[in-house]
Amino acid sequence: MKSEIWDQVHARYPVKLSAYVRAQIRKDPLSAWAQQALPSIDELIDEPGMVADPFAEKGVAACCYGVKQRFPNRILVMTSDQCALNCRHCTRKGLLQKSEVVRTAKQRAEAVAYVKAHPLVREVLLSGGDPLILSDTKVLAFVKAFAGLPQIDAVRIGTRMPAVNPSRITKTLTKKLGACKKVWVNTQFNHVSELTPEAVKACALLVEAGIPVSNQSVLLKGVNDSVDELVALCSALQRARVRPYYVFQCDPIAGIAHFRVPLARARRIARELPKRLGGLALPRFVRDLPGSLCKLEL
Ligand code: SF4
Repeated sequence: MKSEIWDQVHARYPVKLSAYVRAQIRKDPLSAWAQQALPSIDELIDEPGMVADPFAEKGVAACCYGVKQRFPNRILVMTSDQCALNCRHCTRKGLLQKSEVVRTAKQRAEAVAYVKAHPLVREVLLSGGDPLILSDTKVLAFVKAFAGLPQIDAVRIGTRMPAVNPSRITKTLTKKLGACKKVWVNTQFNHVSELTPEAVKACALLVEAGIPVSNQSVLLKGVNDSVDELVALCSALQRARVRPYYVFQCDPIAGIAHFRVPLARARRIARELPKRLGGLALPRFVRDLPGSLCKLEL
């Protein structure tokens, strides 16, 4: 019966686990990883107001193939449509495999030309999917292409690899990324148990290569929706020298309603955290709203 349900969910929202996360779940079948990585029948419940693409991502005209610009000062480059783990709460759930992705050197050159022609752009976000699913050579080709432009202050890599496949973060890669001087990494840890010795080591390699590392958590019902859980998570991140940056309210995406925390509860948690955490460990609670030009504070 369970496998039938899994097949049904998989048909709509593909299931994918990294070997590392599979091993973590084997050690603790009730872990936070199980909730984030294993399919649930709840994903098939169609809740009113939950849609596949609330931010009309597909409708935002691409500046050029695989590149989107919602703000004048930054652009998003889709570098991959794959991740090491298909998070069950993913904002791009159901959209990823339909995205335009910059795959060829010609497409990358066109993206660089677009940035050059738009001098207000100062920051490039390499996203996907997970950019670090690509080979070192491909990641560095993206980074160098954009970091080499004088107008660019930062090339931000959004990756969940330190949490879901920490061995992907190697000394060789981090040294080369750090040498570019403009790379920042945003990662996603949602529960303190994800900061295993392997994950902490991955973060240390990034930090010691001179790369600023921040964390963007998602507020997930049953995973981290309590003051105690978030204090534990943010404290562990600070010990790992990773700045807790955002806690996102789950977006109104089809298939993830069971993870959403009511706004009133999220606000109560947000009000309590400053009493327990110092400023450097204190994340901002934010949400995206369809049509809004920036993230809104809860
Ligand atoms: S790593 Fe990020 S993009 Fe990939 S499935 Fe998880 S939340 Fe989505």
